[in-house]
Amino acid sequence: MESISVFDMLKIGVGPSSSHTLGPWRAAVRWIQRLKKDGDFDKVEQIIVHLYGSLALTGKGHASDIAVMMGLMGTDPVTFPIAEIQNSIDRIHSEGKIRFNSEKEFPFIPSEHIQFDRKFLKLHPNGITFTAVLNDGKEKTETYFSIGGGFVVQKERKRAKRQIARFSTFPFPIEKATELLEYCKAEGKSVSEIVFQNELSIRTEAQIKDGLMEIWEVMLDSMYTGCHTQGILPGGLNVTRRAFETHKKLIGDQPYSNPIEWIGAIRDTEVKFRQILKWVSCFALAVNEVNASLGRVVTAPTNGSAGVIPAVLMYYLVIENHDVNYDDIYKFLLVAGEIGSLFKKGATISAAMGGCQAEIGVSSAMAAGALTELMGGTPEQVMMSAEIAMEHHLGLTCDPIAGLVQIPCIERNAMGAIKAINASEMALDGDPNVGKIPLDKCIATMWETAKDMRTKYKETSEGGLAVQVSLSDC
Ligand code: SF4
Repeated sequence: MESISVFDMLKIGVGPSSSHTLGPWRAAVRWIQRLKKDGDFDKVEQIIVHLYGSLALTGKGHASDIAVMMGLMGTDPVTFPIAEIQNSIDRIHSEGKIRFNSEKEFPFIPSEHIQFDRKFLKLHPNGITFTAVLNDGKEKTETYFSIGGGFVVQKERKRAKRQIARFSTFPFPIEKATELLEYCKAEGKSVSEIVFQNELSIRTEAQIKDGLMEIWEVMLDSMYTGCHTQGILPGGLNVTRRAFETHKKLIGDQPYSNPIEWIGAIRDTEVKFRQILKWVSCFALAVNEVNASLGRVVTAPTNGSAGVIPAVLMYYLVIENHDVNYDDIYKFLLVAGEIGSLFKKGATISAAMGGCQAEIGVSSAMAAGALTELMGGTPEQVMMSAEIAMEHHLGLTCDPIAGLVQIPCIERNAMGAIKAINASEMALDGDPNVGKIPLDKCIATMWETAKDMRTKYKETSEGGLAVQVSLSDC
């Protein structure tokens, strides 16, 4: 049985993909730690990387090769300056060398030393193998799997062991939504209060609040940056950034000079139904335009779906509650994280395993549940809203054009955010006692649908829009 922290579900990272960018980056860093632990790091003279399956099919568009090189240089995806990434990669290409963990240098030609292999490994469609050639002629090889949301595992067995160890520390172990609801009922607590108690068993209150605040600040920053950046997204599809123009029309001449003042400025704009739709879409588009340009976003639960949760939280801040406080933000993120973990345990958050229902569908369910608690919903209504949001994403395929996280991904975040708000409103007006589909059954249905879905619709760019529309059409 898995136990997953909110900080596993909401992670600061770089775009464009949690499974294809953040995961491979982290895998490379982890491999270096392994070499050091085994006393082999100093002996390494050459490295070869194989990206398998979905990482090979959409890895170029998802910048998996760039992420691997950043990881091999020992950089941190949370803190490394985004503007410096391209310079670092250009240096490797021009010099034909890599600074391994920023400690030692040897020849490295990306086109030779990073191999894209369309073969699918057994455990997961996103496999990555690192091979080090040592100065005694021996080779050391390790295989990792990027299983979605930036999670990286080696073998299922090791992962299970680690998760169980942490599980034993949680006072309210949760695998299913029904268990979560039972705790809420028995303790007379909200969903966020139960989740907070679990987090308290592994972190101090200050660490939890500081961590959540950091996550919110990156979310806010990515919305702000996206709304204030114009131009064409990288990758060759010639996709125009849209948040900039939409934002310009919506904000008018309201004065502000930083993200906090910006929130106040938005609150002072006129908001009828159309403006609300546009603002929510604009926030979501902004985040995913930042993501598509390899910017810093919060993986929530993936990078391709990083815009849904910030957009819905921002909706609450600027439309629903102008007196919001930090506790509301903490609650929102705690509930969102827990709902995401229910999907990870009962189904998947990996598009390579379940298509886009695993990304946008899950993020929409997370946002719906979180919003419902802030709007005064009961724990049952929180689950109901998450169920409604996912129910209407079931079967959604993943078919990014040219393997880039741009079309349909960016718009899809806007749709996921709007659906989340709608799902929340329906649940707030609904009676969970007469609801026909419990969240657990919806999660199980999603997993069955994922298993039935053809491989070409699971982050391979071999089906759907990705084959109907090619790079040359754009
Ligand atoms: S189509 Fe959906 S799942 Fe696939 S890359 Fe885009 S956002 Fe992610």
